[in-house]
Amino acid sequence: MIVSKENKPLPVITDQTRPFWSAAKEGRFVMQKCQACGTFNFQPKPWCIECGCRDLEWAPAKPFGVVYSFTVSRSIAMNLAGWQDEMPLVMCLIDLDDGARMYGQLTDVDPETVRVGMRVAVHCESISEEAGIPKFRPHHD
Ligand SMILES: [Zn+2]
Repeated sequence: MIVSKENKPLPVITDQTRPFWSAAKEGRFVMQKCQACGTFNFQPKPWCIECGCRDLEWAPAKPFGVVYSFTVSRSIAMNLAGWQDEMPLVMCLIDLDDGARMYGQLTDVDPETVRVGMRVAVHCESISEEAGIPKFRPHHD
């Protein structure tokens, strides 16, 4: 596993996933969008999960969603000490407004207040020289 200087795991970046990490580094939230049917795909794939079309373009996605499921970690996450200052850590599955389901950390929240269906917004955090990562925080429309 590759880890950052903060001792957190770093993504293995491939040609297929690089646009996602690079955009997040610049604070932009993008996903692959099918040019045939309009479906947003996550995780990145060579073809559309809905119609199989290979004509996918990276496009801005609405940076909002709702909590589908979550878990709260109160001890060391992924056996890496870099997470220790952020305990307890809330990890979520988010149903994005644009349709895809994404895994991510929910920040700036009291874990006791997290609920399924809660509205969240994306914010991007730089994690290395070449990558940022989208995280989520509570959002009130
Ligand atoms: Zn499609």
